[in-house]
Amino acid sequence: MLDDVPRDPFADDPNDPAAALGDFDDSGPLTSAEREEALTDLADVEVFRSLLEPQGVLGLVLDCPECGEQHYFDWDLLRGNLRQMIDHGRPQVHEPAFEPDPEGYVTWDYARGYVDGVIDTEESR
Ligand SMILES: [Zn+2]
Repeated sequence: MLDDVPRDPFADDPNDPAAALGDFDDSGPLTSAEREEALTDLADVEVFRSLLEPQGVLGLVLDCPECGEQHYFDWDLLRGNLRQMIDHGRPQVHEPAFEPDPEGYVTWDYARGYVDGVIDTEESR
C-alpha cells in the first residue's frame, strides 16, 4: 500500500534542512575547493588542447594517484574525466588511452610551460 510508505517529514517544510545545502549538494562528494580546481583544470586543458593539438600532441601523460604509474589521456578523455568529476564527483582515472603512442603525449608541466611560452611571445610582440 502506497500509504504505508513513510512520508518525507520535510516534504512540505520550507525549512527542509537539505535545501540549505543547495548547489553544494549538486557537486557530489567534491568539496567546493576541489570543484573549483577541477573547473580550473578543465579550462587549462581546453587551452592546452587549442595550442598543442595543432602541433600533433594527442593528449597528456599524468601520474595516476591510485596506482602511481603514468597513464596517457587524449584530449577528449581528459575533458570527459574532468566533466565527470565536476558533475558527479567521481573521476574515472582508470580509462587511459588504449595502446597510446607515447610520442604523442606531453606532461602537464610541459603543456603549462608551452602555453606560458606562447603567451609570453605574444605579449612581447
Ligand atoms: Zn592508475
